[in-house]
Amino acid sequence: MTLDRTAFFIDGDWAAPAGGDTIEVVSPHTEEVIATVPEGSTADVDAAVAAARRAFDQGPWPRMSPEERIEVVQNFSNLYAGRLGEMAELISAEMGAPLSFSNLAQAPAPWMQIEAFLGIARAFPWEETRTGVLGTDVVVRREPVGVVAAIPPWNVPQFTIMSKLVPALLSGCTIVVKPAPETPLDPYLMAELLVEAGVPNGVVNIVTAGREVGAHLVAHAGVDKVAFTGSTAAGRKIAAVCGEQLKRVSLELGGKSAAIVLDDADLAATMEGLKFASLMNSGQACVAQTRILASRSNYDTVVDALAETVAGMQVGDPMDPATEIGPMVAQRQQERVEKYIALGQEEGARVVVGGNGRPDGLDNGWYVRPTVFADVDNRMRIAQEEIFGPVLSVIPYDDVDDAVRIANDSEYGLAGTVWTGDVDAGLDVARRVRTGTYGVNTYTMDFAAPFGGYKSSGIGREFGPEGLAHYTELKSIYKP
Ligand code: NAD
Repeated sequence: MTLDRTAFFIDGDWAAPAGGDTIEVVSPHTEEVIATVPEGSTADVDAAVAAARRAFDQGPWPRMSPEERIEVVQNFSNLYAGRLGEMAELISAEMGAPLSFSNLAQAPAPWMQIEAFLGIARAFPWEETRTGVLGTDVVVRREPVGVVAAIPPWNVPQFTIMSKLVPALLSGCTIVVKPAPETPLDPYLMAELLVEAGVPNGVVNIVTAGREVGAHLVAHAGVDKVAFTGSTAAGRKIAAVCGEQLKRVSLELGGKSAAIVLDDADLAATMEGLKFASLMNSGQACVAQTRILASRSNYDTVVDALAETVAGMQVGDPMDPATEIGPMVAQRQQERVEKYIALGQEEGARVVVGGNGRPDGLDNGWYVRPTVFADVDNRMRIAQEEIFGPVLSVIPYDDVDDAVRIANDSEYGLAGTVWTGDVDAGLDVARRVRTGTYGVNTYTMDFAAPFGGYKSSGIGREFGPEGLAHYTELKSIYKP
């Protein structure tokens, strides 16, 4: 079966691209081309925004009741549930995530988001009447914000599309999705399911393209709100454009999260937990806990345990169900990670496992060796900058106050964990670390609750009623 595609999804149909540029999708494991798809131009984006604009200004979707929209999104959810295995394989093939991770998070988690948002939408106060203080009643309505531009990254493509698409749909918005050029295949399957579910023409439009075309979409006069997930550098540029145009914007950006290991932690359980919290998706995760904080008295024990855990993880073919760490998404990402491993050594950190060079037995593919650094000072660049690969830094702390100080000594504020035998002590630490999400002895995102970042990790929240609210404008109607 060929994965090649020749059209974009615009106005409910397959539209021929305006230009002739194409994207070659290259397997990060074999380095071979697995598919060719069109690369969007500004003209394709213009057509997609025009379709979304028409569907919003004249079409049925924003005028339907929330219940009617919920019914269509429920259809989509049911269809999506039947294609999880296919979706997981597609994402692993295009960007190299271990299938074990794709079967856990790349496909089922987006579906769980749809279900969670459906539950939230059923209970959401779309229109309520309040007793005013001036003798009138006030009808408070939550109306759709308009045409949404959704820009996801490649690392968790469906996860980051769904966190925008579903609340946009449920609110009555229309949307243009611009997937990252590394992951253009999964949106085609998603588009087929949207059509089958009965989403009206023009409500969802998809044009895969690179940064410059993405910037054109952000600045487009036909777009009312931008929902972005990606790097902090791109987020700053997008925020500046949206600020100038007073466009609504939500930003999910980078992270450099800390896992604080307290002395009373169950070390074996902590190491098992860190395999996921620190190294999920081969370390290509915004929430990855890449700074491991251990007390000076327990430092060597934690370093040894982590070195043994990471050395024991299976690296290789993402399609092998036993693989825990796959290749990096692209050669440039492999080179970036290797550059940081070299930098860590120059800064004086000590490699205890991994280091530069190919993993044993892997002659092809964009692999790096999972690496643990010891003797890391939190001011080193490897502790401050997002590497986006399987590279962990173990940093010593004096006491709990010092651990909290180090965790907070970061430009970012996305996530974090504390590992301890005393859950109340863990909750105390959780309250003191300035991040949008935090885990005690676990890191699992829950779609019932808001997700997002403090500081340079973003603006706004996804998931929960808070995430749905980002796709609405508030209107107060005063009536006698
Ligand atoms: P990136 O910023 O390079 O690209 C992300 C997306 O934005 C891509 O679709 C890209 O084409 C587009 N883009 C880039 N510059 C743009 C611009 N100026 N205008 C419009 N569109 C633009 O990021 P990436 O390398 O694809 O993804 C990795 C980054 O994403 C990491 O920093 C990671 O932490 C972050 N991320 C954050 C979250 C979160 O929820 N906070 C989740 C996943 C990934």
